[in-house]
Amino acid sequence: MKTIYLLTVLCLFFVSCNEKKTEEEARTYVITEELQAALTPKQILDSLKVRNDRFSKGKMTRVDYTSQIVKSENSQYPAAVILSCLDSRVPVESIFDLSIGDVFVARVAGNIVNPDILGSMEYGCKVSGSKLVIVLGHSQCGAVKSAIDSVKLGNITELLSKIEPAVDSVSAKMENRSSKNKEFVKKVTDENVLLTIDNIRKNSPILKEMEEKDEIKIVGGVYELDNGKVHFFE
Ligand SMILES: [Zn+2]
Repeated sequence: MKTIYLLTVLCLFFVSCNEKKTEEEARTYVITEELQAALTPKQILDSLKVRNDRFSKGKMTRVDYTSQIVKSENSQYPAAVILSCLDSRVPVESIFDLSIGDVFVARVAGNIVNPDILGSMEYGCKVSGSKLVIVLGHSQCGAVKSAIDSVKLGNITELLSKIEPAVDSVSAKMENRSSKNKEFVKKVTDENVLLTIDNIRKNSPILKEMEEKDEIKIVGGVYELDNGKVHFFE
């Protein structure tokens, strides 16, 4: 009986096998300890791709939040940790068609890491069992554009200094460093995601070891503001 239940929920989590059904019936389940344990990093990533596709097509799952609140009150078993930019146009749970208890989300302008964010990721994976880390940049990122233009203002200066290595890396290969140069902004956005992943591996021995043991996957992606799609780097 338990196996059948788990298979059913697994099926729902991955692809919501029956889209028609999800349109008619609201989702009530939350990720359980058993479901989290049964999922692999790749399965979680595949599920998020399907879910983002649903979001971009306006076919999101209806959710019974009242039921989920009751079921998640005393525990959480999120499948992934997602590091996103602060940008209000990137509502992380929404763009992946997710709900209560599904993922940990850390947000900071420019989706960079610092010891506090790394500690949060380590908590998500090592302590709470999440198996996927996503660094999610996005198109038209104000933080990336400001770093390209060397903006100086209060604490923003220090924050932007963490994006500068990506700007410098692209500047070395490309001319016309300007936030008005769309191709340049796009390349810095991609590079910033990749350098953030490098920083995670370099500065978190815990996450690096988990990745080497295939206990977790660390991937990057960029969300496109004009069509709602996430492109993953793999
Ligand atoms: Zn941004």
